[in-house]
Amino acid sequence: MCALNIKSFAAADNCPLAVTRLNPALQNFTPYSAGLSIEEIREKYGVERIVKLASNENPLGASPMVQETLRKNTGSAFRYVQSGNPKLAEAVAQYFGVPQECIVLGNGSDEVIDLLIRAKAVAGVHNVLAFRPCFSMYKVQSALCGVEFRQVDVDENFHFPWDKFIAAADENTAIAFVTTPDNPSGYCPPVAEIEALAKRLPQSCLLVVDEAYMDYTGNEEAYSLLSRLNEFPNVAILRTFSKSFGLAGMRLGFGVMHPQLADYIRRIRPPFSVNIMAEFAGKAALEDQTFYRTGLQCVQEERARVSNALEALGCFVYPSLSNFIMFTLPQNCQLTAQSCFEALLQKGVIIRPLTSYNLPKNLRVSIGNHEENGIFLAALQELLHD
Ligand SMILES: *Cc1c(COP(=O)(O)O)cnc(C)c1O
Repeated sequence: MCALNIKSFAAADNCPLAVTRLNPALQNFTPYSAGLSIEEIREKYGVERIVKLASNENPLGASPMVQETLRKNTGSAFRYVQSGNPKLAEAVAQYFGVPQECIVLGNGSDEVIDLLIRAKAVAGVHNVLAFRPCFSMYKVQSALCGVEFRQVDVDENFHFPWDKFIAAADENTAIAFVTTPDNPSGYCPPVAEIEALAKRLPQSCLLVVDEAYMDYTGNEEAYSLLSRLNEFPNVAILRTFSKSFGLAGMRLGFGVMHPQLADYIRRIRPPFSVNIMAEFAGKAALEDQTFYRTGLQCVQEERARVSNALEALGCFVYPSLSNFIMFTLPQNCQLTAQSCFEALLQKGVIIRPLTSYNLPKNLRVSIGNHEENGIFLAALQELLHD
């Protein structure tokens, strides 16, 4: 056993790779801010039962068919997966009704976001555009690439001010990110607005529509361009297995885009970033339609229930077409959003304060299963009526 001790390392200011000698993009770098994990809270507060409604994971867990497939295939763990995951790409193509040539699989859609930025944007020349607030990976990856990150504030009701957005784009805008339904608000614009945006942006700009939560709208034709993507060569659509397919921990997502762009991106993708277990799990998740549909139905029913219950408690609820709800506490409430979040933690319920999105008064709760939502609502009621 090696006995290297942390104290034997030179103090930070003696480090030969002090930050001044690293990539300047790393100075003042803000990392991705993740929701709290169950283990952290169990250790800190000593609570037995933890209800985690912080990261928009599937309320029904992982599909039984996926679990069975993973158990059966553990013996393959020593093998490299087939480079580029052609079998999985084929299954995804068939399931979503798009040509396989248009698909780029990734280690979560996070990886596809990273690849798109690196493929399109040149450090010090290009910029990337998004709304504020937005999913923080767009900014994290742009910053890492040394690319200017521009943001346009959403409206008061979290709708999208398109004219301002388009005005912020110029001939050096490599990518514009839009999230539909949006995170953290749950708002989803009608597809006609995305179509108009695609036509009005400079044609050198790639419009990336992040549809991580699209299936929760219950009406993809009304909200997604996916079925007509061939008409929009400057649009890429991102989907993920992390939410409705219940595979957040396996890390599997994909982009759908013009086949030529997809070909370039596949060439720069690390060959095995979608690992062999993720490939087994992804194929099984597509096959387990019963689990998938039950999950969607659970979210749709429980979303209405949680939303009504929050309103009955006097909270302001932003209408959501996603698997989470953003809300603010009642106006006469003594608690701040942060103290409400912390008090819920002590009761074993993890939700998401939105300070990292610069929304200190707002909270976001993922839709869990019936029992979990009941525990959350009861805990919140106790806090608000004490
Ligand atoms: C959860 C989420 C994703 C999914 O990311 P993965 O890397 O696929 O897990 C993508 N975009 C947004 C806006 C999300 O909230």
